[in-house]
Amino acid sequence: MPGFELFGPEERKEVNDVLETGIYMRYGFDGPRKGIWKSKELEAALCERLGVKYAQLTSSGTSALSTALAILGVGAGDEVIMPTFTFVASFEAVLSVGAIPVLVDVDSTLTLDPAAVRQAITPRTKCIMPVHMCGAMADLDPLLAICKEHDIVLLEDACQSTGAQYKGRHLGTIGQAGTLSFDFVKTVTCAEGGAVLTNSEELYIRADGYTDHGHDHKGVDRGADLHPFIGYNYRISELHAAVGLAQIRKLDKFLAIQKKNHQQLKAILSTIPEITFRQIPDPSGDSCTFLSWFLPTEALTRGLVAELKEQGILAGNFYWFDNNWHYYRKWTHLHQAASLNRLPEAQQIALKKLSPDAFPVSDRIMSRCISTAISLAWTEEQTKDKGEKIAAAVKKVLSREKATV
Ligand SMILES: *Cc1c(COP(=O)(O)O)cnc(C)c1O
Repeated sequence: MPGFELFGPEERKEVNDVLETGIYMRYGFDGPRKGIWKSKELEAALCERLGVKYAQLTSSGTSALSTALAILGVGAGDEVIMPTFTFVASFEAVLSVGAIPVLVDVDSTLTLDPAAVRQAITPRTKCIMPVHMCGAMADLDPLLAICKEHDIVLLEDACQSTGAQYKGRHLGTIGQAGTLSFDFVKTVTCAEGGAVLTNSEELYIRADGYTDHGHDHKGVDRGADLHPFIGYNYRISELHAAVGLAQIRKLDKFLAIQKKNHQQLKAILSTIPEITFRQIPDPSGDSCTFLSWFLPTEALTRGLVAELKEQGILAGNFYWFDNNWHYYRKWTHLHQAASLNRLPEAQQIALKKLSPDAFPVSDRIMSRCISTAISLAWTEEQTKDKGEKIAAAVKKVLSREKATV
């Protein structure tokens, strides 16, 4: 799963290029940097590899989301539809631009349920933000149709799905804007970093300025730049971009390994009829960072988690339902609007309406779901061993249940 598993001399070489010039900033210092522009190079590599016109690097995936929302004109009081299963960064970014996160159920794709999205639309809905969780895609066609019908923008959070595709196009390049994360545990990592992707020149120009204090970057003299709008500092450093440059060149290798290990693990778990798998709208586009699967009931799933824990093999098998980073139910700080500073009134009102048990449909899906992380480092033998151990634990839990019925 994470690209750091295959760090090597390639990353060291790119970082050393930067260390040798001593210019760690992505802008300016044209003479001393001796032609080394790692951030620009990584942006060009992303465009080339993902088939998108523009990429703007940022300091993180979270700042990429804030930037994307801002350049799309999402601001005070606007509603952004987002899923109950995602990473906390989704609502953080929405709150950061003054907008209202509107939570919506997921279905067995583990992403936004288009029917639930339709029901959540109001005159204030400005943006639909599907999150392509665990390496695979939301069903974008119905979401795009809803956007078109209601004149709403689509922002794809592809932070967990670098390299995945939907019907031949890369995730993050299909909506008006998309974001990637290159944090330390993502498929391609910069240690910390992110990117905004778009095919619109206008949106790109906004992102370029917004992430650097609003600088228009038109002149050769940074000090003399004009500032057509307010921006922030969401810049990436050259050291981080250097790591990412080595990593993006390995993306094809990462995807090939993930697909192979995923297929092998899935074949083993498929032998158990009680196991069902996450619905993937375009299976050939799955980046295969995780294998996500379901047991028939919450009780069985909890039983399995306990069994895996007892055997010391729970690591790498995620039970999101109990996880306080990724699933709505445990976002206590959000339910309580626990903000250090005073939130805008519209946000306070919206957050007060949240309660942990508000999404029984999502609960029924997530309470039965396990996602097994696919490592880049597993050998064929190790993958087989992991799969067989999980399968044996599932059988044990199933037979225990049968005995008690
Ligand atoms: C990792 C992640 C982010 C944010 O990325 P950071 O680089 O860690 O800020 C946003 N959304 C999702 C779904 C993520 O998994």
